[in-house]
Amino acid sequence: MTKYKALIGLEMHCEVSETKTKVFSAAENSYKETPNCNVSPVDMAFPGTLPVVNKEAVRMALMASMILKCSQPEYFYFERKNYYYPDLPKGFQTTQETKPIPSGIYGEVEYELDGEIKKVRVNNLHLEEDAASLDHYSRTSNIDYNRAGVPLLELVTEPDLHSADEAVAFLEHMRSIYQYAGISEADSKKGQIRCDVNISLMDASKDEKDSSNWGTRTEIKNVNSFGGVRDAINYEIERQTEILENGGVVEQETRRWDEESGTTIYMRSKVDAIDYKYFVEPNIPKFKISQEWLDEIRASIPELAMDRKKKYIEEYGLSDYDAKIIVKDKKISDYYEEAIVAGGNPKGAANWLTSIILGHLNKTEIEITDLYLTPTMLVELMKMVEDGKISSKQSKDVFYKVCEEKKEPKAVVKALGITKISDENILRPMVIEVLEAHLDLIEEHRKGRNVFDFFVGQIMKQTRGQADPTLTAKLLNEEISKR
Ligand code: ADP
Ligand code: MG
Repeated sequence: MTKYKALIGLEMHCEVSETKTKVFSAAENSYKETPNCNVSPVDMAFPGTLPVVNKEAVRMALMASMILKCSQPEYFYFERKNYYYPDLPKGFQTTQETKPIPSGIYGEVEYELDGEIKKVRVNNLHLEEDAASLDHYSRTSNIDYNRAGVPLLELVTEPDLHSADEAVAFLEHMRSIYQYAGISEADSKKGQIRCDVNISLMDASKDEKDSSNWGTRTEIKNVNSFGGVRDAINYEIERQTEILENGGVVEQETRRWDEESGTTIYMRSKVDAIDYKYFVEPNIPKFKISQEWLDEIRASIPELAMDRKKKYIEEYGLSDYDAKIIVKDKKISDYYEEAIVAGGNPKGAANWLTSIILGHLNKTEIEITDLYLTPTMLVELMKMVEDGKISSKQSKDVFYKVCEEKKEPKAVVKALGITKISDENILRPMVIEVLEAHLDLIEEHRKGRNVFDFFVGQIMKQTRGQADPTLTAKLLNEEISKR
């Protein structure tokens, strides 16, 4: 039995990637390879420049707050968080500190882990700007201001998570919300998600609801992958357990996750915490959020992963497992939805996705959006099998050829010469002809000698293996019994 229980609170930063421009300037909000090619004078804080709030970013922040069941503020305003760092040309970050989005009522998120629904309370959600990025070399550091001013949503949870598995499941759930809501690609490979992980240990026999029972926390800064979050939490639980077991005390400090050594490293003590001297940003007038706008935003919340999952299970009859696999990645789910709209059978299309397409994407390391086979082509392929034009085994060969050779399914089927003959009007005359030519064998057949396979073989020979075997057998039976 473990003596300690871990309490984990996350500060999840997610770049809002779906606005056209940055949060306070007219520079494009899109990732650029070339450093410093996407920077406006506002992002650089040139004298005389003034910020203009991106309405779309505010709309997305409000939408996120609705999905997270937070209350919305009547007024919106920003504050300055003052500190100097080379990635922050203004000398302050424009953020929301004292009045973040929930105005009173905290939010709550339900996520799933191993089939169990768990809850995390949301402490706050706020809109701010991203800083520039720093690239460190052995003797120099380069600053790329392209990222300066990209809108960022920060979500702060209560310490309601208890393990690395819970934290990662929660983050995956949040990523899915941002993706489905059209707020962000939320791609950690592109650095769009970064987390600070707060973690403490408490006596497992005590009540977690009473915060006086909580242990001292450490804060691990800037963990930028879900794998990193998992490893950092496990490492930190182990480190703190060891301190406590040896009768020591955990110090309240800020640490950093070191990917290479797989450890957390001391950065600074919380005692010398920086005083950011927050004050209201005077260059952005406080603005009112109208009820009409809120209603409009609420009505426009798109179907989320959990809604789609429910639909797949209840309306399409998919298994919980398959539904979960399909909704996990919005792009996969979008593909699936398109296949259904194109007339695909829901169960059949789900089978194709989970058993063949996902495996192929994994193997070839491509995204479903780069797959040559479009949802419409998938439906076409499925129809060919349904209509008996090709066998289901052949359809798989066709699939791989379509993807490899980037050709339409019909063209591939033609090139492979595998069209199955399942037209009665073609097959019946052939059957009759074969039977006429071997009247003696029909007699033998009646006496019990098995010559049926011989007849099937003759038809296959004539059609070069393209006759539908089931239909051929059926026609043979019918014609023999007529004689
Ligand atoms: P700060 O401003 O110093 O970062 P906050 O009060 O804003 O502190 O809390 C930051 C995060 O730390 C929140 O996610 C919160 O849930 C978490 N947290 C607070 N106390 C603890 C604790 N004892 N153990 C684990 N996490 C904690
Ligand atoms: Mg913090």
